[in-house]
Amino acid sequence: MTAPRLEINLSKIRQNTRVLVDRLKPRGISVTGVTKAVCGDPRIAKAMLAGGAIGLADARMANVERLRQAGITCPVLMIRTPMLSQVEQIVSSCDASCNTETEIIASLAAAALLQGTNHEIILMVEMGDLREGIMPEDLTDIALQVTRTPGVLLRGIGANFACLAGPAPTAEDMAALSALANDVEAECGPFVDVISGGSSANLQWALDTEVVGRVNSLRLGEAILLGTDPVSGNPISGLHTDAFVLQAEVIETKAKSKLAPLKLSDPALSALSLVPGNHWKTRSILAIGLQDTDPTGLTFPAAVSYIGATSDHIVVETTNCPLRIGSEITLRLNYSALLHTMAAPDVAKVFCSSRPAADGGAASRNGRHPVLL
Ligand SMILES: *Cc1c(COP(=O)(O)O)cnc(C)c1O
Repeated sequence: MTAPRLEINLSKIRQNTRVLVDRLKPRGISVTGVTKAVCGDPRIAKAMLAGGAIGLADARMANVERLRQAGITCPVLMIRTPMLSQVEQIVSSCDASCNTETEIIASLAAAALLQGTNHEIILMVEMGDLREGIMPEDLTDIALQVTRTPGVLLRGIGANFACLAGPAPTAEDMAALSALANDVEAECGPFVDVISGGSSANLQWALDTEVVGRVNSLRLGEAILLGTDPVSGNPISGLHTDAFVLQAEVIETKAKSKLAPLKLSDPALSALSLVPGNHWKTRSILAIGLQDTDPTGLTFPAAVSYIGATSDHIVVETTNCPLRIGSEITLRLNYSALLHTMAAPDVAKVFCSSRPAADGGAASRNGRHPVLL
């Protein structure tokens, strides 16, 4: 089969979504599936919706257009502050957008009026991540302004944690977000439907806390796709962590350790090359490189160590078990590797889904249907 290729198990993505939706539902929190790490792939988006996500969110217009062109009609939230140059497309393809700038909101409102529609606004509040967000003390004024602007509707408020700079959110942070929702309503009326508490980084809080407060929505990407907690990197219990696996092909295998240190002038380096075990290690090259993935975000099989990468090659080393030319190495991906690999044109994306078992329960391995796309 063609290589490199990313194998995507849609059933596992659907099941991960279902587990998270079911765990959050008793807490009054709904799940919006975030598709930006998978370029808004409609098959993956549909798996999230089949698993119970009430809507989708993405950060790029091109991705949202891919969802719409595939006939997906669910609510779509633009989670990156819209570009002024894209307000028309945002209004026509997204039901709502996350916003922090009054100038952009005014422009969205004007575009919505021209299109004879209303566009919903989620105001993002700065709560310590220092990426996007209105300073909390300015929130009520801006919210009031939104409620008075024809063409836009104040739908809710939201916050983002642990994306750029911030730590994982604390109970105090989340209580502060709920309090801000109350402040906005005291000033503007009962307009705050959605209190969007954050991303996969907030999942631990949402599942552990005694008091959810007014938070009633999470925007989840990584937890659904990779089954991992972005803060700790740890797997989340009950979720599949192998919905995506990357296969790369071996194109060279040679014992190179004797060649490498030929002209080392630094005595420290020469000493290093004399480590006896070195001579029995084998170097191999995988036909995949920086153009296809983030090699530092890959997990290699236990017997294979990562040495380095160039645009089209990844060099690995094995001890006592040389990799066969033409064989494939199975790699696991973190969020950054997934993001780059999904966007790479030379990595084939191969989808499979397991048929539901006869009892409608867990997926069975026998029913896999690989489809090359
Ligand atoms: C990327 C992003 C998310 C989803 O983050 P995950 O860690 O993948 O769950 C949620 N909200 C915003 C604003 C984002 O940019």
